[in-house]
Amino acid sequence: MKIIIIGGVAGGATAATRLRRLNEKAEIIILERGGFVSFANCGLPYYIGGTITEKEKLTVETPKGFRDKFNIDVRVENEVISIDPERKILKVNELATGREYEESYDELLLSPGAEPVRPPLEGIDRENVFTLRNIPDTMRMDTFIKMNNPATAVVVGGGNIGVEMAENLTEKGIKVTIVEMADHLIAPLDPDMASDVHNYIRAKGIRLYLGSGVTAIGEGKVLTDKEEIPADMVLMSVGTKPETALAQSCGVEVNAKGSIIVDERMHTSVPQIYAVGDAVEVKHFVTEEPTSIQLAGPANKQGRIAADNIAGYDSIYTGSQGSAILKVFDMTVASTGLSEKQAKSAGIDYDKVYTFLAPHASYYPGGTNMSMKVIWDKKTEKIIGAQIVGYEGVDKRMDVLATAMRFGGKVTDLTKLELCYAPPFGSAKDPVNIAGYVAENIISGKVKQYFWDDVADLPRDGSVSLIDIRTPEETAGGMIDGYVNIPWVEIRKRLDEIPKDKPVYLSCTSGLKSYNVSRILTGLGYDCYNLAGGYRLYSSIMKDK
Ligand code: FAD
Repeated sequence: MKIIIIGGVAGGATAATRLRRLNEKAEIIILERGGFVSFANCGLPYYIGGTITEKEKLTVETPKGFRDKFNIDVRVENEVISIDPERKILKVNELATGREYEESYDELLLSPGAEPVRPPLEGIDRENVFTLRNIPDTMRMDTFIKMNNPATAVVVGGGNIGVEMAENLTEKGIKVTIVEMADHLIAPLDPDMASDVHNYIRAKGIRLYLGSGVTAIGEGKVLTDKEEIPADMVLMSVGTKPETALAQSCGVEVNAKGSIIVDERMHTSVPQIYAVGDAVEVKHFVTEEPTSIQLAGPANKQGRIAADNIAGYDSIYTGSQGSAILKVFDMTVASTGLSEKQAKSAGIDYDKVYTFLAPHASYYPGGTNMSMKVIWDKKTEKIIGAQIVGYEGVDKRMDVLATAMRFGGKVTDLTKLELCYAPPFGSAKDPVNIAGYVAENIISGKVKQYFWDDVADLPRDGSVSLIDIRTPEETAGGMIDGYVNIPWVEIRKRLDEIPKDKPVYLSCTSGLKSYNVSRILTGLGYDCYNLAGGYRLYSSIMKDK
């Protein structure tokens, strides 16, 4: 059997080595247009920032390594320019010489990835405008920075790569501005969870222009629909488009956005042609709707699954849930599954909890609280998404939530998880368990929530009681307009100040103490509502506005 793989990075390289382990006799060829295979796309921003100092470290495996260790023939700088599926023949351009040659295949795997979008803006071709996909892009940007010592940079697009690059350019001493068309950074987050990230990034000296579109790139500046921003260099990071012109030219079916349509075995519409990675349409794990999720984990898994099927083993891809994590200086931002806005547009009747808890026992030194949001389907009670913004310990909580979700866990199942605990690592009641406890209280009706975006609409005419139960020291930094302060320790003594015939809207720092108070008042016959996420979340969102 002769197997050809087009594209030798995440999906392609994984498929090739898996195939070799499954079939010692097959001839396996990787054809890669670029000069490197199996390189660390995800590490590229950290080379620019100087955390990764050796260029060699960006390459996980070399063509020689593939030959020596796996008996795989890797041809870099060999671009496939056409596919004839009838004859099962490829035409290849050896880029160094311009020589064109043909290669036959029995099975073909496409892993061509996705290329950065370069919108047709005036000035897009200036030499100080960059995109970041591969090692040559990285070296071009690195050389530009070393030669020109830019003082200012504009990152256009505030997705994961844009934010990572904003951090790494700041680490180089460059004054960075992010221009983002949406009203918040990091699209998988909801705006409420993004507000902490915005406030933190601004405190790091990065300017944010949200809801702003770049209209042109001029000499030393970027023009937006609102103003001019100084820019000695510009990184365009406004998304990617699947590189599927080659696939389409040989009749492989694609969707309206150009992503290759595959079945659950990663087989395309054309016999003997498989496809994986950023170029394919996948099934969303939660909605089961077709989508595009361009991440390294899914690309690697799909590569392995395609290899299994090519080698004659039955293997199925069950969909992508979009688990993603991002370092923003010392902050960690992670998400999985659907955001609230995605759940809404999918027509799912959902509910949500917010918590704000320490990553380990509060008496153990260190540890900054993390803000967690967990979303579940009200009908099935299954977890459909989660977002965490914090510092240490975010990654493990998100991985637990992503795992629980993958195995069809209900939000109340989080209460049952027995997670590792010793004071330096966690708490006997882990933040993940507590998200489950809060959800259980909501589902069983023990607590009723209201949200930050309900606050403005609450009547200030005395028809409801608005009570902030924090201590006077805590309220000194600010209170929501119209709320009165009755510290939680005084509640039982000051019940006469709270009319029993009016709904009570409580607020505390994070929603935890007000939950306790709501249980006291509910037990006494009051109709109580608890501000989810508390004043902390509310004020973070207001500060961001
Ligand atoms: P790619 O890895 O893009 O490989 C496709 C290859 O195919 C390319 O090298 C291309 O040259 C080659 N090719 C295309 N057409 C042809 C042709 N006709 N002939 C020959 N060769 C061809 N994901 C995460 O999960 N976490 C991260 O932290 C993360 N960080 C990232 C940071 C950056 C800067 C970038 C660019 C991506 C990051 N990603 C991250 C995304 C992740 O790298 C991709 O999801 C993954 O690499 C996709 O794998 P792939 O095999 O589909 O495509």
